[in-house]
Amino acid sequence: MNYLDRQKRLAASLTRARVDALLVTHLANVRYLCGFTGSSGVLVVFGGERAPKPLFYSDGRYLQQAADEVQGARVVIGKKAALTEAARALARRRTKVVGFEADQLSYSACQQLKLSLGRTRLRPLAGIVEQMRVNKDIQEIEHIRASVLLAASLFKAALTAIRPGVSENLVAGEMEMQARRAGAEKMSFDPIVAGGARSALPHGRASAQPIPDNGFIILDWGVILAGYCSDMTRTIHVGPTSTTHRKIYQAVRDAQAASVEAVRPGVTGDEVDRAGREIITKAGFGAYFTHSTGHGVGLEVHESPRLAKGQTQKLTPGMVVTVEPGIYIPNEGGVRIEDMVLVTDSGCEVLTPATKDLITV
Ligand code: ZN
Ligand code: ZN
Repeated sequence: MNYLDRQKRLAASLTRARVDALLVTHLANVRYLCGFTGSSGVLVVFGGERAPKPLFYSDGRYLQQAADEVQGARVVIGKKAALTEAARALARRRTKVVGFEADQLSYSACQQLKLSLGRTRLRPLAGIVEQMRVNKDIQEIEHIRASVLLAASLFKAALTAIRPGVSENLVAGEMEMQARRAGAEKMSFDPIVAGGARSALPHGRASAQPIPDNGFIILDWGVILAGYCSDMTRTIHVGPTSTTHRKIYQAVRDAQAASVEAVRPGVTGDEVDRAGREIITKAGFGAYFTHSTGHGVGLEVHESPRLAKGQTQKLTPGMVVTVEPGIYIPNEGGVRIEDMVLVTDSGCEVLTPATKDLITV
């Protein structure tokens, strides 16, 4: 990864944001900027063209790991908490204004920070590194492709495990075991396996409930590989399908295809959302599509941009987003189909390879 380039670009945008430095506390951003993968560390990036080298603060537990991983920044292992050490260093340097990640720092951490900063002023900034992360570079796209392929390969394990009477937890467990065998670091979230009426819960984590002998099963899962997440959903059916169930499935499938078709540079998240939502509304299920169409995926499973009503950010090449419309009918069941797509120069490429035909087991 080109960490130095990222640090340089951030330094330039800090000048535009009128801060002299940024305290990066969100770990995904820390990793993006300097490569550190541990669970405690703060990166200080200075603004301006001739900015001093960034400083990375952590504690004794990460002495070795920081030395091995951190690139482009001077590593400081302090006695106090990383954030306190970083703040004190900024105060000593008489830094005038330091930005912090307003969405990521707790109120109490912020209060503590103020105490340690002395006369250095704090300015809240939102999403400054997150916006850099929306466009993936070639290396990131390679990691994401591998993560998506590994996730897709788990569909088979799920299909083998699913039969009436088997618990959702067991199906999820089989998928997780297969993911580890195939080399995944871990799942990008606890897999969703939601059968029968539970499939009407958009986020029904796998439970002890047995797979019913008739109805939809929503499977939503992803893995982390080399730090990069994947996220996909397929809905299958147990037992014979009713006309209504076939109609619901077809509406989601058509909506998903329409939204994917809409993904190209220059289009907004709102427009991609609308393309699919119109189809579901026309099919009479508009009231049952209760979430937005998609989200960015990268070092985090949910990141910018969002594909949702009112989202005016335009898509640009290198963005990786999910397209995942759904219909959820209470006490009846639900359907969601989710692919990851890469925005290209001329349109988009669907990264997720698994079939979208309705599979019945
Ligand atoms: Zn998902
Ligand atoms: Zn998703």
